[in-house]
Amino acid sequence: MSAQHPSEYMEMMRRLGGMAAGTDMQALLAQMSQMGLNTPNAQASASSALNSENESALPTIEQQLEQVKQAEERWKIERNASPVPFQRTDRRYWELSRAAGAAKLKPGPAGNIMTFTTMIGQDKYHSSCPLSKLKPITLRQMSCYKRHEGRYLVCRTFLPPVRLVAVELFVEDTNGDTMYTAVYNLPELFQASLPVLESHYPVGTVLAIREPWMKKSGMGGTNMMLRVDSSSDIIILSPTSSISSDAQWSTTLPAAVSLSLRDADAWKAVGNSLFKQKHYLPAVRAWTFAYRMEPTMYTAPLNRAQAYLKLGWASAALADALLALRTVASNEQKYKAVHRAATAEYALGLYAECSRRCEEYGLLHGADELAHLKSACTDRLREAGGRIDMVKLYEASLGKAVDLDVADYVSPSICLASMSSRGGGRGIRATHPVIVGDLLMLHKPFAAVRPEDLSSQEYLVAMNFATKVMTVASNVALIGQIIGKLVALPVEDARRVTDLYAGPSFPSKSSYDLLHLPTAEPVPIDPLSWRDVDVGMVDGIMSKNAFSLHPLSSLGGSKTRPAKEAMPRALYTAPSLFNHSCDPNAVWTSVGTTIVIRAVKNIRVDEEITIPYVSGTTAFERSKTLRGFFPQPCGCDMCVADRQASDAVLEKREVLLNEMTNASGRRPDEQEKFVRAQLKKILSTYPNKDTLADGTPHPVLTIAYASVMKAVQKNVVQRGGKAGAEEIIRLAFKILAYAGFKGIDTSMTSAPGRRFSLPLSKRCVGVHGEQSYLVHVMLHIAENFLEVLAQGICAERWYRAAWWAHNVYYGGGKELFALRLGQQLWDSSLMRDMEYRWD
Ligand SMILES: [Zn+2]
Repeated sequence: MSAQHPSEYMEMMRRLGGMAAGTDMQALLAQMSQMGLNTPNAQASASSALNSENESALPTIEQQLEQVKQAEERWKIERNASPVPFQRTDRRYWELSRAAGAAKLKPGPAGNIMTFTTMIGQDKYHSSCPLSKLKPITLRQMSCYKRHEGRYLVCRTFLPPVRLVAVELFVEDTNGDTMYTAVYNLPELFQASLPVLESHYPVGTVLAIREPWMKKSGMGGTNMMLRVDSSSDIIILSPTSSISSDAQWSTTLPAAVSLSLRDADAWKAVGNSLFKQKHYLPAVRAWTFAYRMEPTMYTAPLNRAQAYLKLGWASAALADALLALRTVASNEQKYKAVHRAATAEYALGLYAECSRRCEEYGLLHGADELAHLKSACTDRLREAGGRIDMVKLYEASLGKAVDLDVADYVSPSICLASMSSRGGGRGIRATHPVIVGDLLMLHKPFAAVRPEDLSSQEYLVAMNFATKVMTVASNVALIGQIIGKLVALPVEDARRVTDLYAGPSFPSKSSYDLLHLPTAEPVPIDPLSWRDVDVGMVDGIMSKNAFSLHPLSSLGGSKTRPAKEAMPRALYTAPSLFNHSCDPNAVWTSVGTTIVIRAVKNIRVDEEITIPYVSGTTAFERSKTLRGFFPQPCGCDMCVADRQASDAVLEKREVLLNEMTNASGRRPDEQEKFVRAQLKKILSTYPNKDTLADGTPHPVLTIAYASVMKAVQKNVVQRGGKAGAEEIIRLAFKILAYAGFKGIDTSMTSAPGRRFSLPLSKRCVGVHGEQSYLVHVMLHIAENFLEVLAQGICAERWYRAAWWAHNVYYGGGKELFALRLGQQLWDSSLMRDMEYRWD
């Protein structure tokens, strides 16, 4: 190692920062010192670890915009830098670097959190040229700051891998020159442990890197490295490949023995052992090596089918199971192949095919497992026809982000259409009249990430160039998951995702089949060489389409949403095609990870159907998030009405509202006085009082009145009497009206004949407030009518309104309502014995 430059050790210091306790740091520091490397101050680097309490603390939107802008500029400078010749790095440097990286990944004491920063949404290289059309190149023929188009690098790993955000492979080429390669978005390896990394890339793994890009490490680092953004650019070479067998290595690897095996049975045994350890993808590769050495080894595809099922690669599993079915000899193997094929068809949603297959084979052999699968297919086909049991789905999830066993459903009353009002873009429109509460779509995710799946020892922030703001680990993990699924799909099926909107830099697609069924005769995949993936496009698709889920839970549970970074994130195919409106005519909820979209207004034929992408009290607030989706400001009625006021006025409303809702610590009577005064100030920001009565929803006022109601509630019991209850009811009416409910019957008495007539219009429900909260407001009105005002008929009517609104939002009728409300509340209320109907 020659002359030292301070930034040369940045990377080493980065690795040493947050290193796990118990590492022999002193020994490492001593070695670094012997090599002439500056040694980092261990104390200073350890203090950079974040507290878990700060985990959700992203900077303000304005700060994020600035930081992302700076990162974007640095990225551009690096992409446009002039090439400089390759410079060798001593193997020993990589050994130490790898040791430091590995030490950091060893599980440390709780509270020791590693922080990572990464970038997503930028233009990224990916090769679409097949290996056979590329020419070889070696490291010393390459240049830094250059992408080597038309070339591929043959190399092999000489150290076990480690990772930061990317997986880091330490590779040597045939000349023995060494290089560090950061590979992003490798399937199955997001936040992977050392043993998992090693099972995927054991020492001696021979690779071809297509059209490699050499740059310098980190931002402003001086070590050269290869950066591979698309994992499809890395091809694992089987020992039988001619490139691999022709390679003349100038070094000898002590640990490479097992990888040079030319014995099919030995590879088969390696695969079996890896499968037992649940290293499914490495097992698939080992079996593939065996199969290529011994093309009559029909058990290889049979075994691979099972591993693919474990990986969730149903299409690849089906292809291999069908191949095995045609080739395996024994009845036992045939049965396995049938079962695997049927399981894969079920996972793909090919229920009719699965059912037929089970019947065909089940009749012959009377297999219980197949009979069970066939009966599940009957349930799924019923659901695909629109008969969906929301109660069963709720009971299977209970507020948790679990994947549910349910068929996807698309209403026959909607279609995809080109929208002239959307600049030629696509949207969903009604082909038949839609009634408020109609189920429009129910869909399982293409990919989903739950916060609990992510490491609590790592904190990852990504600069998202597609949305210009920062984002958290779940989104980065979701990109990896999407890619992990895409690589294993036939092209036709992958289009379900790649044809979604990816942002203005990618061509938009016009055709899309809402009711697409996967390819029934799938093409086998090559587990050594992925299908090409444009990672920049996938980043854009994730950024513009992913949903933050808040799975349906108990009505009595927490009414505050978790911070956005603590919510599960998921990507859906058809549900992504709805456009946004701040005042939508449909809303989405989730049961487990399944998304459910229902109409919240009556919708005419040909009318566009929209859902809200964001919530927010004013156009000013909503635009902060919406600019991640659209370059233009939102043109909905609510935003247009809001924008008649200046940004300054909108911001003032936000500030007043925040002061109001965050106020605490006062005595109840003082609190009431304060929020009433605050409400007056907010109302005075609306110059034209008529706009408050014209029926346009006002989320600011929904929240303002809610906070007045809450404060009054605390004093009402003391004040006693009917006046208090009447005031609560009047405040509740305001909350509902500004949330978007229409035709509210504000009378305080009702004739018995009106028992079954709802006290509000059935044309729409309010959506400008937490839906469960709005249902609670109706229950609250009913309770006040019943218990204080002794107006039983009014109470009944408002209980029915709560039922009706709940059913519009969530479906599931009386049973789901009762389940979510909880037995105790249900038992104590009049509702239990009421007839579940309304006129
Ligand atoms: Zn809007």
